[in-house]
Amino acid sequence: MDSNLLHIPFVDLSWQNEPLLADIDKGMRDVMARGDFILGKEVREFEADFAQACGVKYGIGVGSGTDAIALGLRACGIMEGDEIIVPANTFIATVIGVILAGAKPVLADCDINTALMDLELAQKVVTEKTKAIIPVHLYGQMVSPQKLKEFAQNNNLIIFEDSAQAHLAQREGKIAGSVGLASGFSFYPSKNLGAFGNGGMVVTDNQEIAQKLRSLRNYGAPKKYYHQNFGTNSRLNTLQGVVLKVKLPYLRKWNNWRNQAGAKYNQLLKPLAEYGITPIKNVVGEGHIYHLYVINVKPSSFYDRNLIQDKLNEVGIQTGIHYPIPCHLQPAYGYLGYQKGDFPNAESLCDNILSLPMYPGITDEQLQMVSDKIKEIVKS
Ligand SMILES: *Cc1c(COP(=O)(O)O)cnc(C)c1O
Repeated sequence: MDSNLLHIPFVDLSWQNEPLLADIDKGMRDVMARGDFILGKEVREFEADFAQACGVKYGIGVGSGTDAIALGLRACGIMEGDEIIVPANTFIATVIGVILAGAKPVLADCDINTALMDLELAQKVVTEKTKAIIPVHLYGQMVSPQKLKEFAQNNNLIIFEDSAQAHLAQREGKIAGSVGLASGFSFYPSKNLGAFGNGGMVVTDNQEIAQKLRSLRNYGAPKKYYHQNFGTNSRLNTLQGVVLKVKLPYLRKWNNWRNQAGAKYNQLLKPLAEYGITPIKNVVGEGHIYHLYVINVKPSSFYDRNLIQDKLNEVGIQTGIHYPIPCHLQPAYGYLGYQKGDFPNAESLCDNILSLPMYPGITDEQLQMVSDKIKEIVKS
């Protein structure tokens, strides 16, 4: 290693995994001895534990967060041709889930300060065909449950939450996953609760939806070799169930660590407001679980987001961009008919945001080094 570099990674999972490896190893050996590799004992236990942690009755483990959205929407009764409102600045999997469910994604712009979907702008794209809205609790901060419920009631829509970045996030006393008719989670390794591979879950309070999902994920078969629905193969495997079940009891502590690191960054970076650098606004307080810590860099003639990213990289500080291209400008979705300029806030964020190192285990010293370096870059 070059000792002049700071070596601050964007995400470091070893800190959380290391102390749990003995328990995970034991659990995996049990699975290998039993042989129930797919939807086995620990999957059923983790489904119950995770649903309870979200404050809902049922959890249905699936193969990925993308499938959680696609199958979850179908289980909620979404049909071919239905329109579903999604934010323009989400990870593309939200859009893919809608299309896989047979529906049409209709995009809405976000609030430039919070990066969350703006419900006043969403109101403008509601048509007779709109059946659902997918709030994305982006970066770990929930969209207001109260405003969502009002919006859904006024327009007679289903709420399906994309909670892939919001495991146990809270707002207005509600936990992510307990606001909508159903909600999709991802357990991709770098999410706040991550497996050792792909995984996802739908949570819901609705028994019929839960039943339908158990069928859809398993070839559409509510019982073996009887195919009631057109289904697929998207099941959580038991080795991932072991990892997730061992990790879940630590999630609150890890989320608190992130929240405190976020608060510390906010404080350290405050003096940069006069240089046009502001964090994405936390309007939620402690319920924000900072899946990502994102700053917005107003470009000047001396620096912009890309320059800051390059300079940080040069000294060994890894960063990310979530996301560099908004959904409506991705080549694969050109057929939806959107153009540059349609969602100015999402477009501006894509050009100017930067995600700083954030993970449970990040130290005050590291946060200080990251902010000192940014200050040095913009002041030089
Ligand atoms: C990660 C993510 C997904 C997709 O989850 P996968 O498990 O990767 O399929 C969906 N939506 C959002 C907002 C995500 O961050």
